[in-house]
Amino acid sequence: MTRPWNFSAGPSALPEPVLRTAAAEMLDWHGSGMSVMEMSHRGKQFVQICSEAEADLRELMGISDDYAVMFMQGGGTAENAIVPLNLLATRPAQKADFVLTGIWSAKSYKECMRYGDAQVAATSGVAARVGGVEQGAYTWVPRPETWQVRKDASYLHCCSNETIGGVEFMNWPTPADLGAPDVPLVVDASSHFLSRPMSVDRTGMIFAGAQKNAGPAGVTIVIVRRDLIGHALPICPSAFDYANVAPEHSMFNTPPTYAIYIAGLVFKWLKQLGGLAQIEGQNIVKAEALYGYFGQTDFYRLPVHPSVQSRMNVPFFLPDPTLDAAFLQGAEARGLMQLKGHKTVGGMRASIYNAMPLAGVVALIDYLKDFERSHG
Ligand SMILES: *Cc1c(COP(=O)(O)O)cnc(C)c1O
Repeated sequence: MTRPWNFSAGPSALPEPVLRTAAAEMLDWHGSGMSVMEMSHRGKQFVQICSEAEADLRELMGISDDYAVMFMQGGGTAENAIVPLNLLATRPAQKADFVLTGIWSAKSYKECMRYGDAQVAATSGVAARVGGVEQGAYTWVPRPETWQVRKDASYLHCCSNETIGGVEFMNWPTPADLGAPDVPLVVDASSHFLSRPMSVDRTGMIFAGAQKNAGPAGVTIVIVRRDLIGHALPICPSAFDYANVAPEHSMFNTPPTYAIYIAGLVFKWLKQLGGLAQIEGQNIVKAEALYGYFGQTDFYRLPVHPSVQSRMNVPFFLPDPTLDAAFLQGAEARGLMQLKGHKTVGGMRASIYNAMPLAGVVALIDYLKDFERSHG
């Protein structure tokens, strides 16, 4: 069986060795006679699977014991509520500030408004001239010097990779850099989590839905500095209170056991490859190949400012939307799947996460060239 190249933004391709291990262990995990799906989450086998997953993730990302690591549910969307419910009251003013760089950070901001005082510190949600280039809304990142962070805010939220717009923060400026050193940074890293090393110790917390780059849908990885835990608002559901979940090692209630197991296999796959610096190297090669090709042609148009083009999600436009259907049809005929852009943006989007090999990117570039030749 040849697998097609899957460019889905999420749920997305998983590393083939992970799928093969899961298939081999499906009916009988390590001589237990059981599938992982059938195990009690409190039995010693699953407790081992879960604690190994946590240990491997800590090793990969260099997460110190100052941070709790939790495997939760509800995805990035639920964290948009769970974060303010847990963090707003860490400081008396109960305020949160947001940097809006795309649809996901804008959603986080809107959700927070339901629970407290949320304010926009900076936004790229308008067209602007950036470095002499005309940019559309949510295709650039406001310069950190212009961010207005309130000094008494409980946290500053940003989305470090906007999956839909394809905008990636290459560096995370901390509130200390912005003159608000007591404001912890909260990062929604869902769609580039584990794609490169990340400075956890410069943040208050990081969260990521696994289904983009770390595993299957169903588990959300939540990394929180321990001193921020224990201040949940009274209306916070107890299953979402970090003070309940963290001490129970994600077993306050039944966690998404199979999704944690698969994410754990992904962590082991990354460790075997040599860790996050290694995968980052591969991701840079893939992104440079694709952006490098786009740089040589005027046929396709890239919406995102070159300084913040995502290595994971690459939106692009054909010269005329009437070509879109033929482009997608031709792509599928070559086994290049799920290239249609998000409906709010239109055009195309190639998501080239960790599990996409360079060969898949090369196959895409070959097709882009051929399509240009026949339609240019
Ligand atoms: C996909 C995504 C979300 C939402 O994830 P769900 O699992 O659908 O709730 C939030 N933030 C980012 C950056 C995402 O890519």
